[in-house]
Amino acid sequence: MSEDLHVSSPWLSPSAAGWRLQHTYAQLPRAFHVAVAPTPVRLPRLVVFNRPLAEGLGLSADALAGGEGAAIFAGNSLPPGASPLAQAYSGHQYGNFTMLGDGRAILLGEQITPGGERFDIQLKGSGQTPFSRRGDGRAALGPMLREYVISEAMHALGVPTTRSLAVAATGEEVWRQEGAAPGAVLTRVAASHIRVGTFEWATTRGDRPALNALVEYTLRRHYPELADADNLPRALLESALERQAALIARWMLVGFVHGVMNTDNMALSGETIDYGPCAFIDAYDPATVFSSIDRHGRYAYGNQPAIAQWNLTRLAEALLPVLHPDEKSAIGIAEEALGRFAERFHHHWLAGMRRKLGLFNEEPEDAALAKALLDWMRTTKADYTNTFAALTTGASLGGVCASDETFSRWQERWLARLERQSESAEESTRLRRSMNPAVIPRNHLVEAALAAAQRGDIEVMERLVAVLSAPFDHDRHPPEFRSPGPNGGEGYKTYCGT
Ligand code: AMP
Ligand code: MG
Repeated sequence: MSEDLHVSSPWLSPSAAGWRLQHTYAQLPRAFHVAVAPTPVRLPRLVVFNRPLAEGLGLSADALAGGEGAAIFAGNSLPPGASPLAQAYSGHQYGNFTMLGDGRAILLGEQITPGGERFDIQLKGSGQTPFSRRGDGRAALGPMLREYVISEAMHALGVPTTRSLAVAATGEEVWRQEGAAPGAVLTRVAASHIRVGTFEWATTRGDRPALNALVEYTLRRHYPELADADNLPRALLESALERQAALIARWMLVGFVHGVMNTDNMALSGETIDYGPCAFIDAYDPATVFSSIDRHGRYAYGNQPAIAQWNLTRLAEALLPVLHPDEKSAIGIAEEALGRFAERFHHHWLAGMRRKLGLFNEEPEDAALAKALLDWMRTTKADYTNTFAALTTGASLGGVCASDETFSRWQERWLARLERQSESAEESTRLRRSMNPAVIPRNHLVEAALAAAQRGDIEVMERLVAVLSAPFDHDRHPPEFRSPGPNGGEGYKTYCGT
């Protein structure tokens, strides 16, 4: 089997499938990567394949939908031009520093799209690497399908995210706490996999040249407009902070809980990365935690802005040696940047909240107006998504809220506020429709889809993915896709079981 690794099948020329792989990451200093090939699996089979994403990457979906694709996406054969490697990084996990690295992921290369964009193509669950520690290097089918569903839903919601190209079953079992589970490999597509933890890795090793190389590389790849800045590390810190502030605001606005915001799970590209015990809130409650191992609520919904700032502080610390030759000045630069996070987050959050409420212009009381609605939702345990959907379509507003005096008073205040802008009611509704989803990946729907998929029935998941690909269409999806599930979704737990 392993003999096949470096040859593509004779009947498929590279151009037929459209692979155009480059390897700029491999040109970074050796400290950042180790060459390692995926470990072939027993029986590769494509479970899901993202045709539109493949086409967007310049790949031929037809060429890859069959056995050739299954072999590549399971790690049994390499696409032409691949040069597989595992990336080195560290991370603060639940506050504790650890040296990590890709223990079960392998970067095949960077696909250059027809439009000239560059995307990492990474296999997750593709076998052991020098960073596997005691892990088996593998992934279970359920969690990989979960990442597929939720990352694609996030993309459709307009939230920057890594994406999922394919999930291939391995025909092998993996052993997890819950027992044996079918194994699978996810093909992840990302702007890059550079993490806060990648910078921590270089700094912890005391490798100044590597740290400088990483700063320059990250800027070139994600912030090319800053290549001429006087102080590159400072420019990087400030821009990464801005993108994180915008990203976390988007999470908060759609009700997303990442669940494991360790510094190795925060990408410098500003994309959401590493879908583990993540989920969307149903009832609005800032204390919501889904992860079974997050006992102290470190990564609770309402704590996400604070944790993002905490992670950015780790990034700033990692950059200290190169921010300024004088340590005191370096700390000053870092503190100045970090001190802006709260304001930048609030700026993005409020801009989004205005759109959710259908507001074009700005008034000083807008934040208080939004907060009053959220307070009411918290008190009444109202469903976050459905409340905003009701404000969008007006359809169920009467039924749900008519009898509630607090809500009625809030509504009068909001309607009066809507009068104080020149845009028409129709324009305001259109704005709300573009911002408030009708459907999100409800936990009970995701679980049902994954359970069916594990029984061999992939249709439930395909239907769910199709619905979630048009989240802002308020007129199409059947009501069962909008229900919060049993008990209003309360008590739902996700397990890190990966
Ligand atoms: P995650 O919780 O997925 O962000 O992973 C944290 C670290 O654990 C990363 O370094 C992973 O590569 C590693 N890891 C997770 N699962 C496994 C596994 N089954 N085998 C080897 N390494 C793993
Ligand atoms: Mg991770």
